[in-house]
Amino acid sequence: MANLLWLQGGACSGNTMSFLNAEEPSACDLVTDFGINVLWHPSLGLELGDNLKKLLNALTSGQMPLDIFVFEGTVVNAPNGTGEWNRFAGRAMRDWVSDLCKVANFVVAVGDCATWGGIPATAPNPSESQGLQFLKRDQGGFLGKDYKSKAGLPVINIPGCPAHPDWITQIVVAVATGRAGDLTLDEFQRPKTFFTSFTQTGCTRNMHFAYKVSATEFGQRKGCLFYDLGCRGPMTHSPCNRVLWNRQSSKTRAGMPCMGCTEPEFPFFDLAPGTVFKTQTVMGVPKDMPSGVDKTGYIKLTAAAKAASPRWAEEDIFVV
Ligand code: SF4
Ligand code: SF4
Repeated sequence: MANLLWLQGGACSGNTMSFLNAEEPSACDLVTDFGINVLWHPSLGLELGDNLKKLLNALTSGQMPLDIFVFEGTVVNAPNGTGEWNRFAGRAMRDWVSDLCKVANFVVAVGDCATWGGIPATAPNPSESQGLQFLKRDQGGFLGKDYKSKAGLPVINIPGCPAHPDWITQIVVAVATGRAGDLTLDEFQRPKTFFTSFTQTGCTRNMHFAYKVSATEFGQRKGCLFYDLGCRGPMTHSPCNRVLWNRQSSKTRAGMPCMGCTEPEFPFFDLAPGTVFKTQTVMGVPKDMPSGVDKTGYIKLTAAAKAASPRWAEEDIFVV
């Protein structure tokens, strides 16, 4: 049996909703098939009031072992570093987080807010929000850059807004069944198994990307969403087109540009009208290039691809 505790800081509950929709494995499978004992969760926990405080105190005092601590949402530090804007079970949530991270064998941050600070930490960040071990791209965050859980790992970051349900449950199962040693993490502490490939890997619009054929409006079935609509699929690490959403779709398959939510900078730009779903360009060349491509190479490739583009690339070939 592995004891799991899930708490929420500055959050919209999106990652909880995502978790409850997991299918491979489901949240129920965690309990019935993988021996995970969910001590408490904001939507599933039974204890209230003093009983919940007793449970949390038993964990922080070491009376009860805490194998996996899952945190969703930002660590709220306002006002003035006290964390009093986000109180939980009689004290600032940030104080619970600090104490629980000292006793947990593994700490898992779920969603952009817990990993990088996400939308709440966007300037001017009135809630003084931080991610558990990052603030945007800067390592450190609330726990500091040297933090390691009792098992010797840093915080395992599962970003996304929300994170895909199966990324969450599969990582929790790996940790609970003693396979944490198989997890390799990238420079942002994301499990490489999910976050090495790009959103573009498996995108059905790849042929349109290659021939520089653009989609001009949302939901259009032909064309790539990169050239006009700001798709960040070529520079975003995620398996959204490999581990499909609801087992059958993804943003780009539905004709919606990837917004790059698994990267620390999300949300990109200043969110002013016209900056999100519009490709930002300088003299007609996108400001942000696909990963590993330089501007000169991109310009040459564009000219060659356009010249070589077959007629079918301009047609809607998805007949069903
Ligand atoms: S840019 Fe976006 S829409 Fe185009 S191929 Fe890549 S992921 Fe798909
Ligand atoms: S497609 Fe992009 S924006 Fe959508 S969930 Fe995946 S990484 Fe996030």
